[in-house]
Amino acid sequence: MLYEHAIRRDEAAIVSTGALTAETGRHTGRSPKDKFFVKEPTSQGAIWWHPGNQPISSTSFEGLLKRMDEFCASHDVYTQDVYACADPRYRLHVRVITELAWHSLFARNLFIRPTADDLLGFEPDFTVVALPSVNADPQHDGTRSETFILVNLGRRMVIIGGTEYAGEIKKSIFTVLNYLLPARGVFPMHCSANVGAGASEVTLFFGLSGTGKTTLSADPDRRLIGDDEHGWSDTGVFNFEGGCYAKTIRIRKESEPEIFAAVESFGTILENVAYDPRTRVPDYDSEEKTENTRAAYPVDLIPNAILSGTCGHPSNVIFLSADAFGVLPPVSRLDDEQIRHYFLSGYTAKVAGTERGVTEPEPIFSTCFAAPFLVLPPDTYADMLIERVNQRHAQVWMLNTGWVGGPYGVGQRMSIAHTRSIVRAVVKGELRDMPTHVDPVFGLRIPDMVPDVPAEVLDPRRTWPDQTAYDRQARSLRGMFEENVQNIGKTSSSSG
Ligand code: ATP
Ligand code: MN
Repeated sequence: MLYEHAIRRDEAAIVSTGALTAETGRHTGRSPKDKFFVKEPTSQGAIWWHPGNQPISSTSFEGLLKRMDEFCASHDVYTQDVYACADPRYRLHVRVITELAWHSLFARNLFIRPTADDLLGFEPDFTVVALPSVNADPQHDGTRSETFILVNLGRRMVIIGGTEYAGEIKKSIFTVLNYLLPARGVFPMHCSANVGAGASEVTLFFGLSGTGKTTLSADPDRRLIGDDEHGWSDTGVFNFEGGCYAKTIRIRKESEPEIFAAVESFGTILENVAYDPRTRVPDYDSEEKTENTRAAYPVDLIPNAILSGTCGHPSNVIFLSADAFGVLPPVSRLDDEQIRHYFLSGYTAKVAGTERGVTEPEPIFSTCFAAPFLVLPPDTYADMLIERVNQRHAQVWMLNTGWVGGPYGVGQRMSIAHTRSIVRAVVKGELRDMPTHVDPVFGLRIPDMVPDVPAEVLDPRRTWPDQTAYDRQARSLRGMFEENVQNIGKTSSSSG
């Protein structure tokens, strides 16, 4: 039905695969600089105020909310009642009110779908209103631009205007959960999760955008819990969502068969994917509209997904970084101090082509791999991670899914096949007792051998043609880490 509404209202089109495809216009990604927390008595003492978490007044919020009410009174809007949090103990009832029919389908795909019975007497705990046609007036409304994402923790509302990027809807509830759950003893995490055969071995994959959370968690040998947002409670890990939001740029059926099949399904929403206007065949290689092309689909489109969205405690935790400088080892094992350091750093790197004018690698540090979604100070989350890892004797690893054999432009991106071999060795426990050697610059312990991965790939210094150039670049990156860790919260964080 929502397909039909979206088509009739000229919001979207259908491509040859059966997917619904929409364009998001001016905003093809999130707008972290336009996100504000309403300064209100119930939350203002707890919020980690820093340039990435800006306050806005209740007066501004009420003014914009009034405009949203007026819009809803004079236009047809869509309501979708859904849940966040697969563990029934923490279930959040979320009402999503949208101007666009396809946004309503997005909310249905990404959140947890209640049964028809569950909908009787559904009372929302939180309401998200997303009306792209309502634009703010920065002079009058106290926003930065026409675009706004206002989180009001006291009123239990999020209002979103001036952007059609659907990812704002799911990430605003993730932000809310980063506030609500720590007080209830649950660690909210920006990570994917999957489970080995026999449901015993759980692995978490933390990482910023584009580092491989979605890609690596879809694995034919393992069962998917979720690709982006989870909680870690006293009984184990649970998904916040009921769907996935995969990147489709240059996707290959051979290296990502499960995701590819989901992307090409009825019910899936494509965002900003180019397609032939006549044949309607999608072109995943085109970055004509953006590099950040996406597909939003319910998690049940991944074969083998665990539909309850819950599992036990992790035995392995993996930090993913796509190091475009090409100096971090493809896999290393972290000790306690390194766990805190690399978690608080939340490192990846951006490369040319992702944003205009970027011609060389640029580091991105986003604390806890989640700066734009953290509500409380970063140490709160780091402490929860360390405590749980120690309690459960989980092993923590750092994987470089970025460049090897030199920096971006010289080396090449680590192959997905090699990264998958490393993940396989980690989850099978093959690296637990593997002898390691320590790299001299970062002090990281690199396993001497990983099955199915050539030994020279494991040691980045040996893959660089010029070893003094490697040393220089590695020391420079270490310096960036040190400088960043001292400044967490003092400058505005990058958009991860
Ligand atoms: P987001 O938070 O934005 O959803 P993500 O961490 O889920 O990001 P993915 O969607 O998994 O990121 O994106 C990883 C991208 O990098 C994919 O397009 C994948 O094809 C590509 N890629 C290339 N080489 C590798 C590798 N060695 N490991 C993982 N992904 C790789
Ligand atoms: Mn993802």
